Amino acid sequence: MSGKFDVIIAGGGPAGSSAAYILAEKGFKVAIIDKAKFPRKKLCGGLITDKTMKTLEKIYGCDEKNIIDNGLIDYEAAEYSVYYREHKIQDGTSPVPFRFVNREIFDYFLLKKAANAGAQIFTSEEIVHCNYQDAEIKTKSNKIFKGKYLLGTDGVNSTIRKFVPYDKKAWKENMASTIEITFDAKDYPREVKWPELYIGCLKAGYIWVFPAKDKVVVGIGSLNRCTTNFKATFMNFLKTQGVENPESIPLHGFPLPYGNYIKDPCYGRTILAGDAAGLVEPLFGEGIFYALQTGRYAAEAIAKGISENKNPAQFYIPRLQKYIFPEIIYSNRLRWTLFYSQRLLKHISFKIAFKSLPTKLAEMIHGIRSYKFLLKKYWD
Ligand SMILES: Cc1cc2nc3c(=O)[nH]c(=O)nc-3n(C[C@H](O)[C@H](O)[C@H](O)COP(=O)(O)OP(=O)(O)OC[C@H]3O[C@@H](n4cnc5c(N)ncnc54)[C@H](O)[C@@H]3O)c2cc1C
Repeated sequence: MSGKFDVIIAGGGPAGSSAAYILAEKGFKVAIIDKAKFPRKKLCGGLITDKTMKTLEKIYGCDEKNIIDNGLIDYEAAEYSVYYREHKIQDGTSPVPFRFVNREIFDYFLLKKAANAGAQIFTSEEIVHCNYQDAEIKTKSNKIFKGKYLLGTDGVNSTIRKFVPYDKKAWKENMASTIEITFDAKDYPREVKWPELYIGCLKAGYIWVFPAKDKVVVGIGSLNRCTTNFKATFMNFLKTQGVENPESIPLHGFPLPYGNYIKDPCYGRTILAGDAAGLVEPLFGEGIFYALQTGRYAAEAIAKGISENKNPAQFYIPRLQKYIFPEIIYSNRLRWTLFYSQRLLKHISFKIAFKSLPTKLAEMIHGIRSYKFLLKKYWD
C-alpha cells in the first residue's frame, strides 16, 4: 500500500487540480495522481470565457487582476469574426473579452496551487486499474492508493471510467475528433487579432483560428458520426488561408466529448468530473470552465459527504442538474438547429442568428446568459 487518503484524485488537469485545492484547503488528506510529468502539454485552443474567470475567482479567491498579474492570460480580445466557409458573415464585439491561456502554464499553475494547499502530487504515475467500489487504484509501477472516495478527473480517455458501469454506446455516439496546429505568428500567412469561427465546411462541427501570444492556433472539431473527409477538409481550409503545403505539417489530434455527458457520474465510492464525465458544452466544445466547475462541485460534495456521513452523490447530482445540464442540453439543441439549418439555408441561418443577436450570443458564450432561451444565467 503506497498511501491512504481521504480522497484520491485521478488526473491533475483543471478538474482534478481545482477539486484537490478545495479539499486540501478544507483539511482533507488528498492525493493527485497523474501519468504526465508537469508542466505538460495539452492540445487546446485555450479560450477562456467570463464564467471561467469568475470561477477561478470563486475557487482561488484571486480577482481578475491577480489572474492577469500571474501571467496566466496570454492574449485577450473583445472582437470576434464568424465566417461561412471563406465568406465573412459577422464581425462582432463582445461586452467582455475572450481570453486565452497556454494550457502548459495554466494547468501547472493550478497543480501548484493544489500542492501549496497541501495536496500530495504524484506525477509520472499512470493509473492502470481501479476498484471503484472501494476507491482504490493501482499504478503501472504497482503502487496502490486507497481513499474514502475516488475522483476520476483523468480526461476524455479516462481509465477510471473504463472500470465503472457507464453507457459505453451512448458515450461513443457523441464523441468528436479534433486536430489542432499551433503556428508561430510570424509563419502564419496573415495577422490574427481576434478569434475567428468558420462554419459550413462540416456537417456537425467547425474550424477555429485563435490568436495567442506570438502564436496562431488553428483547429478543427467534428462529431465522428457526421464526419467524412475530416483531414482533407482541414487541409483545404489551411490552403484557403494561404498555408503552403499543409500536408507536410505534423498533425496532433485528440478526442473531445461532444454531447455525451454522463447524467449520473457517481458509482459506489467513485465520482467522475470534467472530461471524464463528458461534461463539455456541445456546440463550441468549451471544457475548461466545466472541468473547473464540476471539479469544484464534486470536491464540495465529497467534503460534505465525509463530514455528514452521507453519500456525496446526493449533493453533486442536484447541482449538476440545476446549473450544468441545462447549459449542455440547450446548447445541444441550438447546435442541431444551426447545423441542420445550414444544410438547408447555407449561411442564412447563422447570418440571422449572429446579426440579430450579436451581444446576446457573446453573452451566452461567456455564461452571462444561458443557452436556455438566452435568459440571464445565475451560477452558484
Ligand atoms: C483540440 C482541442 C481544443 C480545445 N479548446 C478548448 C478551448 O479553447 N477552451 C475550452 O474551454 N476547452 C477547450 N477544449 C476542451 C478542454 O481542453 C477540456 O475540456 C479540458 O482540458 C478538460 O479538463 P479535465 O481536467 O477534465 O481533463 P484534462 O485536462 O484532459 O486532464 C486530465 C489529466 O489526467 C491525466 N491522466 C489521463 N489518464 C491518466 C491515467 N491513466 N493515469 C493518471 N493520469 C491520467 C492526464 O495526464 C491529464 O493531466 C479543447 C479540447 C481539444 C481536444
